Amino acid sequence: MVRTTVLKVYGRVQGVGFRPFVYKTARELGLRGYVLNSSGNVKIILQGDQEKINKFEERLKREAPPLSYISAIEREESFELELFEEFFIKESEKEDGFVFVSPDIAICEECYREMKDPKDRRFNYPFINCTNCGPRYTIIEELPYDRASTTMKRFNMCENCEKEYKDPVSRRFHAQPISCFECGPRLWIKSKDGDQTIGSGVGLELIKKITDLIKQGKILAIKGVGGFHLVCDATNNEAVALLRKRKNRAHKPFALMMKDITMVEKYLYLDSKEKKLLLSKERPILLLKIKNLGDISELVAPNLLYLGVMLPYAPYHHLMFDFLDVPVVMTSANISGEPIISDNKEAETKLNTIVDYYIFHDRDIRHKTDDSVGFVVNGNFQIIRRSRGYAPDPIILPIKVKPSLALGGELKSCFTLAKDNIAIPSPYIGDLTNKATYEFYTDTLKEYLHLFKIEPEIIITDLHPLYVTTELGLDFSKFMEVKQIQHHKAHIYSLILDRGFKGRLIGFSFDGTGYGEDEHIWGGEVFIGSIEEGLQRVYHFEYFPIVGADYAIENPKRILLCYLSYNLPKFIEKVRYKYSEAELSIITKMIETKDILYTSSLGRIFDMVSSLLDIRDSITYEAQAAIELEMVATKSNILDIYPYELKQDTIEIKETLVEIIKDKERGENIPDIARKFHNTIVDLMVNIGKLLRDLYDIDYVGFSGGVFQNRLLLSLSIELFQANGFNILIHKNVPCNDGGISLGQLVGAIK
Ligand code: ZN
Ligand code: ZN
Ligand code: FE
Repeated sequence: MVRTTVLKVYGRVQGVGFRPFVYKTARELGLRGYVLNSSGNVKIILQGDQEKINKFEERLKREAPPLSYISAIEREESFELELFEEFFIKESEKEDGFVFVSPDIAICEECYREMKDPKDRRFNYPFINCTNCGPRYTIIEELPYDRASTTMKRFNMCENCEKEYKDPVSRRFHAQPISCFECGPRLWIKSKDGDQTIGSGVGLELIKKITDLIKQGKILAIKGVGGFHLVCDATNNEAVALLRKRKNRAHKPFALMMKDITMVEKYLYLDSKEKKLLLSKERPILLLKIKNLGDISELVAPNLLYLGVMLPYAPYHHLMFDFLDVPVVMTSANISGEPIISDNKEAETKLNTIVDYYIFHDRDIRHKTDDSVGFVVNGNFQIIRRSRGYAPDPIILPIKVKPSLALGGELKSCFTLAKDNIAIPSPYIGDLTNKATYEFYTDTLKEYLHLFKIEPEIIITDLHPLYVTTELGLDFSKFMEVKQIQHHKAHIYSLILDRGFKGRLIGFSFDGTGYGEDEHIWGGEVFIGSIEEGLQRVYHFEYFPIVGADYAIENPKRILLCYLSYNLPKFIEKVRYKYSEAELSIITKMIETKDILYTSSLGRIFDMVSSLLDIRDSITYEAQAAIELEMVATKSNILDIYPYELKQDTIEIKETLVEIIKDKERGENIPDIARKFHNTIVDLMVNIGKLLRDLYDIDYVGFSGGVFQNRLLLSLSIELFQANGFNILIHKNVPCNDGGISLGQLVGAIK
């Protein structure tokens, strides 16, 4: 019997090269014992000098591999173990527990170098990876993370790969997706006409064939890491037009993939922060301001000043750009409203009317993930779709919660599983009013419960009686505690938890729509408070009626008509040309009955102003009217504001509207009017902020809700609040839109 130190390391410590690192470090220090993957942690058994064991612990914290993340280390002394002669790596043992799963990571520099090295045995190998890079979450079927529990299990390792896999000093030691030309997945091209396979294999020949098809103006479905992309030459106007037509997608922008930073800088403005993000291991799509659209088709992002761009992340993306000098459209392959397609057969049945060719590979995708999307504002990264590269990374909470499940909202849905101070948001899932998307939601939910071994004791949902997630949550009320948290409060709580903020703040929750505590539709709310004391609603935009809610959201001119009929009937004359006689009389009558819905949504106010300025009367994708209003406003630098009124607890903008109508009639520059409207919103926010600061002695302000995806508004708000001496909180890890709601709902589960 000998004194032995047992360390249990928790966090993201599996599948990230942690055991080889432990092995190397222990051997360097001359310690004996072993390391093994357990399903809740990595267990390290150490025998040797106490001093060396202490040194080992220090190095564990300081030098852990780049993709690992240590959330806790437990230490125990034991006298029950035999004496070991050396340090070794032991087979995984199965045990119940909480384990982190790494997201999927872009090809690392070392793998890239090997892929480009004619002397390397993986020269031009399309599926190269190592413990520092490659697919993870998308291929994991079971934990602990071992080859046999991934979709790579069907590929038998060749001798050379097996040698690397078993060599503790190799960068591919226990790299589960390890493979090579001899033993790994294959790519193949299939034409949509008939069953004909045009080519298959792993060679550069095949990659060249793929890029030839792109150059010929064909539309391709290319299987990626988390699902299929629809791909075509972004400089080929006809190809982009054809893709729009076949996909029945009129205006919604397409994301692009570009070869490298040089290509990005040719078309777009790029600062150092943005450059770093584009090159990061997460490889998100970044929305970047257009410098010169050049040869890129205007149909890629109609009416927008920004393009969504990402750099290659799968090895074969890089290989494709060996033959391509143009940006390509790379948009998630799905049927409108449905989740991204990830299965070969499903692609063939669902994309047959959209694409000319399929590029398949035979590494199955177990978990769908979309590309993540974000932008940089005033030096801060704002994620607006959190998926590949980020999910299922945990978020560390400033509070402790019961084992819980927060179900989120309904659009841009995302649920969060949590326990103690760890929250694991799901990837972006989408609009749950779509049946296929709801299935994706429940499937992912089951997977999460299974993988992360958290048994919720409490479920938290939105307050909206008609959200499918509310229904789902309430179904559980027979078995466990169910709580409901109001949507716009959840937005502010989400910001507080995202930033680990402790204290009181003034929270601006500016949004599309959500169900209010008074049964009206909220969306332009100001709260004060904290997690401990709760949030108190202190201001909101004055209610106005909305007739035919879903129709109105798609037709901003309807919102304008509702607003004017209710508040400024004599001004209807000015926009009469937008409406039929029937619509005019029906709306006027309905509003007189007063038996209608009322809203305080700022998102809807943006829609209405967009229509008023004849920028967009009806939309073809979510928030289009507000986005185009922002684009128009971005073209002006005017500093003026319109009048408005702050009453006891309401923000009134009748005068704002009257002045906008007058400006428009005088023929003022439309970008100036749009900008003045943005300035007005920021001005009223700061004035409210000052009033509340004086009244409650709070100098923290926070911004959350979908409206803050408007970067002109966000950036102006940050600047003006800063100039007025406020401390500012904006999101960091989760979206300000409804993708962040479930994180905020966790305040309902505080221990
Ligand atoms: Zn690598
Ligand atoms: Zn091999
Ligand atoms: Fe919302």
